[in-house]
Amino acid sequence: MKFDCDLFVIGGGSGGVRAARVVAAQGYKVSLAEGDRMGGTCVIRGCVPKKLMVYASKYQESFDEGREYGWDVNVTGFSWEHFRKKLDAELARLEKVYRKLLETSGVSVFNDWAQIKDPHTVLLGSGEEIRAKTILIAVGGQAVKPDITGSNFGMISDDVFGLNELPKSLLIVGGGYIASEFSCIFNGLGVDVTQIYRGQNILRGFDDEASQLISETMVAKGIKVRCNENILKLSRETDQLKIDFQLGSTELFDDVLFATGRKPNTQSLGLHNVGIKTGTSGEILVDKYSQTDQPSIFAIGDVTNRINLTPVAINEAMAFAQTMFFGNPTPVDHHLVPSAVFTQPELGSIGLSEKDAEKIEPILVYESKFRSMQKSFISKSEEVLMKLIVSKETNVVIGCHIVAPDAAEMIQLASIAIKMGATKDQFDQVCAVHPTMAEELVTMRNPINRG
Ligand code: NDP
Repeated sequence: MKFDCDLFVIGGGSGGVRAARVVAAQGYKVSLAEGDRMGGTCVIRGCVPKKLMVYASKYQESFDEGREYGWDVNVTGFSWEHFRKKLDAELARLEKVYRKLLETSGVSVFNDWAQIKDPHTVLLGSGEEIRAKTILIAVGGQAVKPDITGSNFGMISDDVFGLNELPKSLLIVGGGYIASEFSCIFNGLGVDVTQIYRGQNILRGFDDEASQLISETMVAKGIKVRCNENILKLSRETDQLKIDFQLGSTELFDDVLFATGRKPNTQSLGLHNVGIKTGTSGEILVDKYSQTDQPSIFAIGDVTNRINLTPVAINEAMAFAQTMFFGNPTPVDHHLVPSAVFTQPELGSIGLSEKDAEKIEPILVYESKFRSMQKSFISKSEEVLMKLIVSKETNVVIGCHIVAPDAAEMIQLASIAIKMGATKDQFDQVCAVHPTMAEELVTMRNPINRG
């Protein structure tokens, strides 16, 4: 059978671009189709612009604390217009970088939507058909709004980066990564933020103590976090949105942000043409090599709804390239993946939470909750948390949870030891770096007694 290319990648996000360029760099003929901006969710409407907004939102607190440290600071306000202009320029620059990476690796790029016609044929929006030996689907996911009256009036996270002006009051619906991160961002930018979550406490799935501390700190910073609450209906009332809540109250907000989860982008991919199986959320079902039940078609990243994080999609891309093009079958490693929530303070986490670990085996919990030197000096009550979950039988550290400024940076480093299987004794053999917050990770001597 004659093919136009060795590999056709559908989707120009972090996973797709990585796979395309590493395979092309080895001399294979590779094509990639992307109908939107190159870079995907992470670069264009996710991690990157979000993190830049996190930076922007932290200055007010730094100015306030700076005064307490003796600085004479006079701030007159924040210009969203100024920030947006710079953000747009930065994203345009990054998009160019992504295109350049593909170009210099020799990938042929189609600025077009694509769908699968048969196991070896991709049909482009233009009508052109490309025959490929292998097809990789890396089309990501999209935010979903709840199915309630008036949900069309609310925004999703994609819309945040295109706001013309900041709302004065904002209701954020959801308790996950996106809801909690944007609550902190908008609060830092001076917006009056209310976050509602239908469950008992935000950041479900993370260690309970860690999410509790984040929630308490968010409240102390002025965010109204309301749990066990949901929204029934939205309607427009002059220039505001009227919200009917499940518990019976009605309130007005300038804007509403739905951060109620994401779903895989599998609706218009033509999967029915090739009989590829999808799961209950529409995710493409794959095996440990990211192969679908059509042997020539693979899928990586959020479209497979395994662990929806950029670095995981990139690892999946590399494992796919190893397996299919470099003669080294490599199953994707989803064990002990660290992650961070960019709330203020941040949450860095790897491994099992205390609750999940104790369901599996007897554990010892080591933790230190304290005020950092920086905050104590200005009599701020904000606390940080360092917590290790240790197997009682093997002494191996099976979970680490950090709530602190820059916890994301800390967990990245702690993850190396934990992924290597370090024991608590080995943590204890490491000399502390003083004075730091993270030194607590190597100086906690006694497990806590929950009894
Ligand atoms: P999550 O799945 O983390 O959170 C969705 C939230 O919305 C949950 O609190 C959920 O409640 C709630 N929810 C779902 N449906 C409804 C509904 N109908 N009404 C009210 N509430 C509802 O999704 P996100 O959108 O926050 O993030 C998506 C993914 O993106 C994450 O899983 C993560 O992998 C990734 N991400 C990672 C980031 C990072 O690494 N820092 C940052 C942002 C995103 P319940 O808990 O009850 O189900």
